[in-house]
Amino acid sequence: MQIFQDKQSLLQALQEIKAEEKSIGFVPTMGALHDGHIALVRSALRVTDKVVVSIFVNPTQFNTASDLDKYPRTLEADIALLKKEGDIFVFAPAVSDIYPEEDLFAPFDLEGIDLVMEGKFRPGHFQGVVHVVRNLFLIVQPQKAFFGLKDFQQVAVIRLMTKKLSLPIEIIACAIERAPNGLALSSRNLRLTESQKEDALILFQTLEFLKKLTRDFSPAVSREKAIEFFKKGKLELEYLELVSGETLEALDQNWSADSTCCIAAFCGEVRLIDTTPL
Ligand code: AMP
Repeated sequence: MQIFQDKQSLLQALQEIKAEEKSIGFVPTMGALHDGHIALVRSALRVTDKVVVSIFVNPTQFNTASDLDKYPRTLEADIALLKKEGDIFVFAPAVSDIYPEEDLFAPFDLEGIDLVMEGKFRPGHFQGVVHVVRNLFLIVQPQKAFFGLKDFQQVAVIRLMTKKLSLPIEIIACAIERAPNGLALSSRNLRLTESQKEDALILFQTLEFLKKLTRDFSPAVSREKAIEFFKKGKLELEYLELVSGETLEALDQNWSADSTCCIAAFCGEVRLIDTTPL
């Protein structure tokens, strides 16, 4: 495994990989790695010759300074985990490497898919995501990039950005990794107490509850029943939406072939999200 803390040294090493005509797989992360991230890394290792994992807590996608400050940073443990997976390039750059002064980036038209759900509650979040992922793509220039469906809306945004910029990068979406009890793995879980982790199970339980409703009820009625179920738990709901997986448009009377539920809630001060296809 090799660790690169500046852009120039990574670019140099990648040049050699490209000269050998090897394919590059890219897994962008914000660190505090868990089995969800590792599943992406393993998918990348299976189908590309050299895997680059970036570890960069991106300031432009946070809405509050305190959320950014409190985001877990565990670089040494992350490196130890990745070492076990194989001969990986780890890219842990400084902010100035990702956002140089001459960075030309203007807010991007994401056709409104950045304004619903996460976008509605975290204004500007997806512009920050698009900005960092574009800049990372321009540095790494992978053939394939791997993203988790835990961040369902993010995958849709990245696909649209890649298409609009005509980048020759295949976006590969990987399934959500969960703890045995169903809790979706997340770096933010590190900030939960044991009893909050129990409380947070209501997210998964609500998604499971919802799956049973789809045959008998419309999306509108199912949504109401799911919200009622969720409110029996201790979390504070931000949104629970039933959307078409492709357009992210809210479903009302009819289900679509790719109906998806996305949910966000606060467990104490920690904001958690979860999702499922229905
Ligand atoms: P993050 O470090 O939270 O920005 O996540 C980096 C990548 O890992 C994103 O593509 C996430 O969607 C993905 N990811 C995070 N948690 C999970 C999970 N539980 N299962 C699968 N992928 C995940």
